[in-house]
Amino acid sequence: MSKEGRFDRTLITAALPYANGPIHLGHLAGAYLPGDVYARYLRLKGHPVLYVCGSDEYGVPITLTALKEGVSPRDVIDRYHAANDAAFRRVGVQFDIFGRTSWPIHTETVQGFFRKLYDGGHIEKQEMELWYSEQSDRFLPDRYVKGVCPKCGYEDATGDECENCGAQYSPHDLIEPRANIPGDSSRPILRMTNHWFLRLQDFREPLKAWLDSHPEWRANTRGIAYAWVEDLRSRCITRDTDWGVPIPLDDPEAASKRFYVWFDNAIGYVTNTRQWGLDAKGDPEAWVPWWKDAGSRIVHFIGKDNIPFHAVLFPAYLMGQGDYTLADNVVANEYLNILNRETGKAEKGSKSKGNMISVEWFADRFSTDAIRYYLCAIMPESRDAAFDWDEFMNRYNGELCDVVGNFVHRSLTMTVKNFGAAVPTPGALDAEDEALLASLPEQLDGVAGSLAQFRFRQGLERFIEIGRRANQYFDTKQPWVTRKTDLERTATTLYVCCQVVRALCTAMAPFVPDGASRLAKVLGVTLSEGGPDGGPDAWEEAKRPLAAGAPLGTPEVLFPKIDPDYAAEMAQLHAEGRAR
Ligand SMILES: [Zn+2]
Repeated sequence: MSKEGRFDRTLITAALPYANGPIHLGHLAGAYLPGDVYARYLRLKGHPVLYVCGSDEYGVPITLTALKEGVSPRDVIDRYHAANDAAFRRVGVQFDIFGRTSWPIHTETVQGFFRKLYDGGHIEKQEMELWYSEQSDRFLPDRYVKGVCPKCGYEDATGDECENCGAQYSPHDLIEPRANIPGDSSRPILRMTNHWFLRLQDFREPLKAWLDSHPEWRANTRGIAYAWVEDLRSRCITRDTDWGVPIPLDDPEAASKRFYVWFDNAIGYVTNTRQWGLDAKGDPEAWVPWWKDAGSRIVHFIGKDNIPFHAVLFPAYLMGQGDYTLADNVVANEYLNILNRETGKAEKGSKSKGNMISVEWFADRFSTDAIRYYLCAIMPESRDAAFDWDEFMNRYNGELCDVVGNFVHRSLTMTVKNFGAAVPTPGALDAEDEALLASLPEQLDGVAGSLAQFRFRQGLERFIEIGRRANQYFDTKQPWVTRKTDLERTATTLYVCCQVVRALCTAMAPFVPDGASRLAKVLGVTLSEGGPDGGPDAWEEAKRPLAAGAPLGTPEVLFPKIDPDYAAEMAQLHAEGRAR
């Protein structure tokens, strides 16, 4: 039995994107697309599934953007929340809710989490030295201070972290510190202040036991999580800022501080599930089974930079509550880089290089299915991958269009032309017909098996393989020749082809849902999608052959090819830094 079959329901989360800029293709391939493919697969299986995401709207980068633009943080988050919500819809990423951490219900949820940790004795107040600007009369959290990296000499390193070399260090070690606020680049001083710390070391043993119980996780996740668990200590969960969730303590020092985004952000999954229950069910308790029943399964989709937060910190917060279910899997992808066409080398996407491709820009120019197909094909599951314009065009045109699209199109047009708009009645089946028909349930199970194990690239290959085998059959049977000599043989061939098309329709649905739903209309089948309440098992349904005589709609080209000149033009715009 597949793993999801042993659970009553599955809650899928994808890392909350920062409402401080447009989401780009790297984000999409990292967390949202794999989460969506998996959610669609479970909906097709009829397994109850809830896919939860939302904007992360607090934190220093947002207040810095607001300061630079001379607007309020609220203006910044409203803009990017709306833009990113729309961008996800454009590429068929179907969340059950796309929430916001600025909602009052989130404040209530986070404060409740903190209270429980506080009452359990897991929170302590500690004195620490932080950079302080006398000119602005304020502490300088995170990116509010810049300086020279003590490890690599990078000049734009932040207070305790260098984005160039990845080093983390104590604020004392930052060389030539300067305030990084519009109008203030003064040299800050170190000043003592108090902050609240979570005693992560209290959760060392249960965290270890939990990790030990999941040997099936990807190596990257386990490696990073174990390294953290070996070295757990108290971690600061508050910051000197007024933009964030207030600390619910009757302490004058708490008033000028807020929770650090990395404390409140993952709790947003709980918030958003609560809000979903209110919106969809009108039931303030509808979220509870998803987070607290033993029969509930939680799967987090994230990029690898988020591993410590999802495989160590957030589970510790949950353990501190006492009655929450812990994640059954934390599926972390590596990075999607960008191939630089001039140097032939893969580069990290970065704002300063201007090489990132926003989802909105890309979706304005290419179909949802083309985008999803290529990103699934190169998904950075076990190592970094790179977006490459030539590969994008060649794989989409050469695989999805030429192998699957072409087979579907020639099968259906020839059927409709020769046998009216219906599945033909077959004559006697020969060994080749029977072998191909018999292979279909197996091939469908193969795709499902890959998806159930989060092997999206393999699942996509197995789906294309169904098309490859079918094209071989079609070429061997030559229905365009036999239709002049042996109509019954032709009917049999096309009957078999219609069954393959039926199987392809379901197999493609998690990856390229637009094409799948258009094909389902032509075939007159429903890709019955379940949801939080579950539904019929469309995956099993796809193994049942279409009846002879079943009506067919008018075939259309499912996956139009990308014109190479057009793709080259778009690649040029990207090279000029205009793909934002
Ligand atoms: Zn550095």
